[in-house]
Amino acid sequence: MRKKREFRIDLHVHSVFSGESLARPEDIVEAAISKGLDGICITEHGSLYASAPFEELKRKTGFPIFRGVELATDAGHMLVYGVRDSDWDDWGKDIVCNAQEVILRARALGGVAVPAHPCRLAERRGYVGEPKIVLDERIASLRYLAAIEVCNGKHSGNPSICEVLGRFAKSLGLGQTGGSDAHIPEDVGRSYTVFRTPILTEEDLVKALLSLSYYPQNEGLPHFSTSDSRPA
Ligand SMILES: [Zn+2]
Ligand SMILES: [Zn+2]
Repeated sequence: MRKKREFRIDLHVHSVFSGESLARPEDIVEAAISKGLDGICITEHGSLYASAPFEELKRKTGFPIFRGVELATDAGHMLVYGVRDSDWDDWGKDIVCNAQEVILRARALGGVAVPAHPCRLAERRGYVGEPKIVLDERIASLRYLAAIEVCNGKHSGNPSICEVLGRFAKSLGLGQTGGSDAHIPEDVGRSYTVFRTPILTEEDLVKALLSLSYYPQNEGLPHFSTSDSRPA
């Protein structure tokens, strides 16, 4: 069998445990497998514990399911990867956290933090055409970020957002991830991250995210060549 050279992981998925999604865990995993993904990371809003029931599904299916959390912070939404329930103790649950504290705490526990969708679209009054992309400059001053989410599934129809965020990440020397931000199974895999090493454990994921050797991708679009995280 040919050695696999790419590992496609959707790093930003919500399920019914986020409260605002109706996606059943089984349907999410089925969608991920049918789309040919090599893994997914469940990132429920405000609570790491919320996705604990996925552990059983992971055991049952053998499909690589990782669990992170998406926290609200004073610098926008922040995804945390690679921390364990017992260590994290559901820290930051349902509050607006200080972004730098989130990053430092994740780092101290062997994890990483990645700002999610750090931009917004500003409609200009009377202007016809593409809305202006406004970067969340608050994240530029944060220390010890691993990457920023450059491709978010909700923006996958507007590739110029990825280009702008890709340049932003590069200017900060950060990696570039992709995740669907799916709230329904059909959206799983709309955006994902392509790694060059197998990602089978949370430790693999953290190590890979710190390596910068990966890139974000939107489903069905050509390789996003300007966005390689690897420094030139
Ligand atoms: Zn978000
Ligand atoms: Zn989200």
